[in-house]
Amino acid sequence: VLSGTGLEKRFGGTVALAGVDLSIRRGETIAIMGPSGSGKSTLLHCLAGIMRPDRGEVTLLGQRVDTQSEAQRSRLRRSRFGFLFQFGQLLPELTAEENVALPLLLDGTPKPKALPPARSWFGPLGLAGLERRRPGELSGGEAQRVALARALVTGPAVVFADEPTGALDQANGAETMRILVEATKGQDSCLVLVTHDASVAAHCDRKVEVRDGRLVVDAGPGAAKPELPQRAGAW
Ligand code: ATP
Ligand code: MG
Repeated sequence: VLSGTGLEKRFGGTVALAGVDLSIRRGETIAIMGPSGSGKSTLLHCLAGIMRPDRGEVTLLGQRVDTQSEAQRSRLRRSRFGFLFQFGQLLPELTAEENVALPLLLDGTPKPKALPPARSWFGPLGLAGLERRRPGELSGGEAQRVALARALVTGPAVVFADEPTGALDQANGAETMRILVEATKGQDSCLVLVTHDASVAAHCDRKVEVRDGRLVVDAGPGAAKPELPQRAGAW
């Protein structure tokens, strides 16, 4: 569905990506792990067309993404991708249902047509009755499930999630992750998930690890656990 080949990105003197190849198959859920600053978010941003790589190619369904204009990539992000980030994703002045409907509204769907599909997510995500609340009137876990509904409402080809449960407690985070993986699988979307949490990554079909801008581990289900390099001064 989506693939990046030979992706390189630097910021001034910092090499964030040093040549990454990653292909995501239809319906696949993939966890990106690795230390802070290793290039995980940069990889996600390049794959999602938020950022242009310096070198390399990104293709979605056989079409080059990285060479498209910002306007084209922005349309692609709204229609084909869903996004879930750690903080501050809901617009405070909109109701929960309006927040969920937002990708449809931005793509020109009239409000009466956009609200029913948005509302249809509230029951399954345990949010029934909260449709008219504003984000400030929701708990952290509820707000994150609203953001999750928004990421899924267009039936995207790929959902990108960067540390989506970092701001939640363990129980809320685990529940949100279970819903995220189930919901993306349920509608045959792919999931590209950046996480530090191995128990979260265990929900995914495949795990990759980024170190210093390179993929060092690419393990499918049942693959042998690779030996990690010892960190100097770990004890
Ligand atoms: P974390 O787990 O802390 O979120 P990460 O793996 O997502 O880390 P990236 O955000 O991809 O790491 O950053 C990779 C490297 O690129 C880091 O050294 C970072 O400082 C640098 N970097 C990222 N974005 C920028 C930017 N906009 N300007 C300058 N340097 C950047
Ligand atoms: Mg990051």
